[in-house]
Amino acid sequence: MRAITIGIDMGGTKTLAIALSDDGNLLASQQIETDRFAEAEKALGDTAQLVRDTIDSCGFRQIPVKGVGIGLAGLITREGIFTDSIIFPRWFSVDAGPILSKTLDLPVIVDNDANMAGMGEWWARRDQSQSIETLLCLTLGTGVGGAIITHGRLSRGPDGLAGELGHITVDLNGRKCACGSKGCLNAYVSGTAIGERYKERLLTIGQDNSSVSEEDVISGLMVSKLASSGDALAREIIQETAVYLGAGLASLANVFNPDVIALTGSVSNLGEQLLGTARSELAQRAWPLSAKRVRVECSRLGTSVGAIGAAVSALKASV
Ligand SMILES: [Zn+2]
Repeated sequence: MRAITIGIDMGGTKTLAIALSDDGNLLASQQIETDRFAEAEKALGDTAQLVRDTIDSCGFRQIPVKGVGIGLAGLITREGIFTDSIIFPRWFSVDAGPILSKTLDLPVIVDNDANMAGMGEWWARRDQSQSIETLLCLTLGTGVGGAIITHGRLSRGPDGLAGELGHITVDLNGRKCACGSKGCLNAYVSGTAIGERYKERLLTIGQDNSSVSEEDVISGLMVSKLASSGDALAREIIQETAVYLGAGLASLANVFNPDVIALTGSVSNLGEQLLGTARSELAQRAWPLSAKRVRVECSRLGTSVGAIGAAVSALKASV
């Protein structure tokens, strides 16, 4: 080992930092609460301190740090400017890279959190890099993000917005999506959407003994737990979610002919509950060769995927 890179995954609840050696070992990880309602300067100051603490926790004296990668939940332009997010409501057109770089005196690269997760999943399969031409990553969390990686490189598009895989249409006149469109995959398979669909169905059925009211917020995790405990409606919602996911995966398979679609985020923790049906839906809808080619897999790096991908991106940027 000659140097380390630091990767940061800055989400709405937690900010996770990891240290990765240049020979691919995870050396340290540290986590703080994210103050998502703070101004960008304050939140980035907290993040800079987290980076210093993570470097210190590696226990090496004067190990060179090649750089820092940071994944943020929001729209990031190709130039690295953070432009829009519901997660950080007080961040307006923030050039986070130079701010952090000046504070830390280190090179810093910034990208969308889903792009960083995609790089993490690609890195986790680097031993198969010769056989993986295209890897897609779908981040199934509070919202649905995505990344397209071909020959180890992210596809960004001229505005940095390529890979918004959660916003392919799966129902022409379907549910409203946070992006302003309707019928997007995100409006059915995100954790938020799963919870909302469960609540809407419950209120429509009008179960007298239901303790759910219009004001209650139900998360995807709650629906998942209900399904596991035998709740018939929750199981039905999860089953429908798997069908929507499979239809979305089929479109992605037809468009990209990918080798791997990696699923990350809390909703992917449903595992085979979701994947069994999604895979068979994909097989029925996609071109047979594409369906046969693609492996739909759960994350190999779990909750650290975004931070590891950010470190990998910083490492790639440094060479
Ligand atoms: Zn959308």
